[in-house]
Amino acid sequence: MDIILLGPPGAGKGTQAQRLVEHHGMRQLSTGDMLRETRKADTELGRKVADIMDTGGLVSDEIVSAMIDAKLADMGPDVGAIFDGYPRTAAQADQLDDILAKHGRKLDHVIELHVNEDALVERITGRYTCANCGEGYHDVFKQPAEAGVCDKCGSTEFKRRPDDNEETVRKRMQEYRGKTAPILPGYEERGIVSRVDGMASIEDVTSAIDAVLTR
Ligand code: AMP
Repeated sequence: MDIILLGPPGAGKGTQAQRLVEHHGMRQLSTGDMLRETRKADTELGRKVADIMDTGGLVSDEIVSAMIDAKLADMGPDVGAIFDGYPRTAAQADQLDDILAKHGRKLDHVIELHVNEDALVERITGRYTCANCGEGYHDVFKQPAEAGVCDKCGSTEFKRRPDDNEETVRKRMQEYRGKTAPILPGYEERGIVSRVDGMASIEDVTSAIDAVLTR
């Protein structure tokens, strides 16, 4: 089963994708994660990607679609893909259709995480992850049980994304409203969109997504 998790920054796409990976053995394909790897390289592309990400803009459709194509080429047909943060434009949505067809796959569900945008800035600016295992935390909503120590792996190193500041977040939301939200109606016409309340607890959002997938 191949699905898209769609929603503005901070809606919980990454968190839910990780849970789907754990519960159902699906594979998370996050273009944001792929681009964070790309920007680490001291190359022209790495620097260009870093500039775009730090200002909250969108990397070119061709670059992200080529990344998705390459990942799918590596995946067996039985492993479901979770597209997290992709597609983000109408062109990417078209490219995804072509890429899926090329790999003999098809899109089963688009799950829209519906959230109150006012709450998103607080969600995003407070979030951080364990630098060792990637477990997610939040200054207000999810502190480690022992201050400064990761619940999962015991590491004391944590990190924040450079683009999780208020100014960049606002720009990222503007991009979502202007370029990403408009791809929803096309999927709605195909009858594959399910809307889930992204403001519910992490557990409840997971249950709602599971209900869609087992329908
Ligand atoms: P994310 O981790 O999904 O929030 O993505 C972080 C940043 O990476 C975004 O603000 C964009 O600059 C870039 N990015 C991630 N996915 C895409 C995509 N599908 N198309 C264009 N840019 C992307």
